[in-house]
Amino acid sequence: MRRQERIKTRSPRPPANGSARSIPCQDDGATQRWVAMLQSGYLSLGRIRGIPVRAHPLILLGALFFTGFRFEPAAWLGFVALILTHELGHALVIKRYGLHVESIDLHAFGGATRWAGYATGWQRAVIAWGGVVAQVGLLLLTLGIVAVIGTPRSVLFAELVSVFTVTNLWLIGLNLLPFPPLDGATAWKIVRELRDRWSSLRLSAASRRSEPRPAPRTYRVEPRPRVSPEEAARIARAFEDAIRGGRP
Ligand SMILES: [Zn+2]
Repeated sequence: MRRQERIKTRSPRPPANGSARSIPCQDDGATQRWVAMLQSGYLSLGRIRGIPVRAHPLILLGALFFTGFRFEPAAWLGFVALILTHELGHALVIKRYGLHVESIDLHAFGGATRWAGYATGWQRAVIAWGGVVAQVGLLLLTLGIVAVIGTPRSVLFAELVSVFTVTNLWLIGLNLLPFPPLDGATAWKIVRELRDRWSSLRLSAASRRSEPRPAPRTYRVEPRPRVSPEEAARIARAFEDAIRGGRP
């Protein structure tokens, strides 16, 4: 699912002479919110940990597509919950990095988490993984529940389990394809980020090793003088003569 990023820009100040137009407002703002909602096409579903969650009616089209165009309301609901889980995975990582999450939007093609702020390449890659990791968490939770309570007997429960496992796995695979606007386009950059980190770690370790250290104590070894065989014989003879010469 897409993660929409926006760089914060300072909004222009209204003129100081009070000529800025204002929209006539005669109610508490609820009408304006409804008008804005209808204009954007999104319906506000509420907030999760302070993050506005909006849904576009066309998300039902996506739900129909991913559930094989069958009339399975529980599966549709499960699909919306699956997308919401994915986007919440992004949103929680974004908040963890101290960035601002503007909203989570659910639409016909899945969802989008809109956020603003400055993130490093590493942070962007981890944010991209957040959605898929949340899906894996939901998959494991579903498998754990089925392992404890057994195979679902009710149709509604079976539909939910199918969406949280089979559809979930399909979406994980789809999301990790390395093409924009899918998460995989950013998520797999984590490999390069890890390689860069490893290289910088090795470089810093090498620079620590190359710091000036006390010079090791060295000993000078004098080379042995070379003596030719003739010279050696002459010295030996001289030595013998000297010994003989001392005798009577
Ligand atoms: Zn995503």
